Amino acid sequence: MRRSAARNVSAVVVAAAMFSVGAAAPPLSPHAAPRAKTPVKTPEAAGYGGAVASVDADATAAGIEVLKHGGNAVDAAVATAAALGVTEPYSAGIGGGGYFVYYDAASRKVHTVDGRETAPRSADSSLFLEDGKPLPFADAVTSGLSVGTPGTAATWDTALDAWGSRSLGQLLKPAERLAKDGFTVDDTFRSQTQSNQERFADFPDTAKLFLPGGKPPVVGSVFKNADLARTYEELGRKGVDALYRGELGRDIVRTVRTPPVGPDATRTVRSGDLSTRDLSAYRTKRQAPTKVSYRGLDVYSIAPSSSGGTSVGEALNILERTDLSRATQTQYLHHFIEAGRIAFADRGRWVGDPAFEDVPTKGLLSQRFADSRACLIKDDAVLKSPLAPGDPSDPTPCATGGTAAPTTFEGENTTHLTAADKWGNVVAYTLTIESTGGSAITVPGRGFLLNNELTDFSFAPANPAVHDPNLPGPGKRPRSSISPTIVLDSHSRPVLAVGSPGGATIITTVLQTLTGRIDRGLPLVDAIAAPRASQRNAPTTELEPALWNSPVRRQLESLGHVFTQNPEIGAATGVQRLPDGRWVAAAEKVRRGGGSAMVVHPAGRR
Ligand code: GLU
Repeated sequence: MRRSAARNVSAVVVAAAMFSVGAAAPPLSPHAAPRAKTPVKTPEAAGYGGAVASVDADATAAGIEVLKHGGNAVDAAVATAAALGVTEPYSAGIGGGGYFVYYDAASRKVHTVDGRETAPRSADSSLFLEDGKPLPFADAVTSGLSVGTPGTAATWDTALDAWGSRSLGQLLKPAERLAKDGFTVDDTFRSQTQSNQERFADFPDTAKLFLPGGKPPVVGSVFKNADLARTYEELGRKGVDALYRGELGRDIVRTVRTPPVGPDATRTVRSGDLSTRDLSAYRTKRQAPTKVSYRGLDVYSIAPSSSGGTSVGEALNILERTDLSRATQTQYLHHFIEAGRIAFADRGRWVGDPAFEDVPTKGLLSQRFADSRACLIKDDAVLKSPLAPGDPSDPTPCATGGTAAPTTFEGENTTHLTAADKWGNVVAYTLTIESTGGSAITVPGRGFLLNNELTDFSFAPANPAVHDPNLPGPGKRPRSSISPTIVLDSHSRPVLAVGSPGGATIITTVLQTLTGRIDRGLPLVDAIAAPRASQRNAPTTELEPALWNSPVRRQLESLGHVFTQNPEIGAATGVQRLPDGRWVAAAEKVRRGGGSAMVVHPAGRR
C-alpha cells in the first residue's frame, strides 16, 4: 500500500452501510471534487456476498461495488486492478503485466492467465550488454530497453472473455471516475514520488503528471489523472485492440523508441526496439496451474514463466516431511529458511520462459525430487549458499554436486489483489510494472508509466559455467517470482488464496504466509502480519526488524544462520473461506501503510 490516509472516493461510492463515514478534509485544491464517503481502511473483514483485499481502499471498494451489483470475482478483480492503476501508478497499470489465477466454482477447477511482458522480437541474450559488459542496473531500469510489451490489458480481456460477466468498458468505469475526480495523496504516495523525483524530472510528461509545479504532490492534496481517465474510456469503448493494434499502441511504441527526455536531462536514456509488430503479436497464455498436495490440501499457483508456483510448490513439498505444527518457532523458521534456500538453488538453474527453455515443471513439483532435496536439511546445521541445484530428471537423495549460481538481483515492487464472490469463485492476481515507478517513462498524453520488466532477465549468466534459463531472447518472457496462490480442500473447494509483491521475496512471503496459516494455525491476517524472513540461496537471510530484534535470531544464529535486516518484506493480501460459508478478506496491518480488506455483507469477526 502506498497511501494510508483517507482519500476522496466520490467516484467509488459504495453502499454507505459498508463503511463508516470519514471526516471531510478541507479541500486543498480549488478544483478538488467535493469530499465523499471514504472507505475506512481495515486489514480484515468477514461476511457474505464476496470479498476483496488489495493494498488500497479505493481499489478494494471498486471491486466490492462490482460484486454488489452482481458481478463475479473476475469482474471484481479487473475493476480493482484498473483502480490500482490510478492509485498505485508506480506499481501497476496498463503499462505493465502480471499473472492471474482463477478458481471456477462451477467446475471446481483452477485456471491461469500468464500476462507477462515480452521482449521485443529483435532481442537476444546481449540485450543488456554494452561492449560485452552488463549495463549498470539503474541505467537499464530507466530506459526504453527494459520496456516489455505490456500484458495487463490483454490479461483483463482474456479473463473477462473466459470467465467474466461484465464488459471491460463497464469494469473500467469506477477507475475512470477515480482518475478523473482524483484521490487524496498520502505519505506513501508522496514519499514514493520523492524517491523517484530525480528521474521523473528528466521526463517532462512524467514530471507534468507526477511532479505538479515541479514538486511531489503534497499530502492531503487531490491527485487527478485526466489523461488516464481518457485512456481508460478509450480502452473501454474500443477494446484492448486500441492498445495492441491502435493509436494507443503506436503512442507506446513511439515513446519506447524515442524516450521523451527533457532538454536539461543529463542521464543517458537508451531507447528500446519495441515495435507495433511486437504489440500485435502479443498473446496472453492460458496454461495449467502448478499443483502440489500439502497436508491434505491442494495448493495451486502459476506455472513458468513465473518461478512462483514451482518454487513455492517445491518448498512446500520439502517442508511436508517435517511436522511444523509442533516445531518451536526457531525450528519452524530454520526449516522454512532452508527450504527457501533449496528452492531458489533449483529455480535459478531450471526456470525460465518455457517457450524458450526446457523447464522441468513436473519434476520440480514432484515429491520424489523434494524428498531428494529435503534430506539436505539438518536440524543442527545450516546449508551453505550458493547451494548447487538438484536434477529433477534424476533425483539423487542428498546430492550436493553440480555448479551453484547465485540468485541474480531483481526489483521489488508490484501489487497483489485477491477477490472472491458469492458463488465461490476466487481470483488471486499479481500485477506489476517492476520497479517503483517502472521505467519512469510516461506515455505522453496517456497518463500511465511504462514498465521496466525486462530487467527481470539475467543481464549475463549468473554463473558462466552453468546454463542460465533467464537470458533475454526474442519475444521471451523474463522470469518472474509472482506467486498468486489458491488452496483447495480435498473436495476441491476453496480454503484460502494469497499473494504478495516483493520481487524474489514474493516466493518466501507466500510460503511463510501459507505455512503460518496451515501449519502454525495463525488466522490469515496474522499469518500475513507475521514478521518475515527471506532466504534466496544467498549467504545471508533477510529478517524484518521484529525478527531481528527477537531472541529467535540468536537461537538461529547459534545454528549457523547469518542475517541482514530488511525493513519491510512484501505486502500480502488474501481471502479465506470459513466453514460457515463466510469469506474473510485479509491484508497487511502495518506494511506499506496497511492494506484494505472488505466484504459485501459484513457479518461478525472471523
Ligand atoms: N518484476 C517482479 C517479478 O515479476 C515483480 C516486482 C515485484 O513484485 O516487486 O517477479
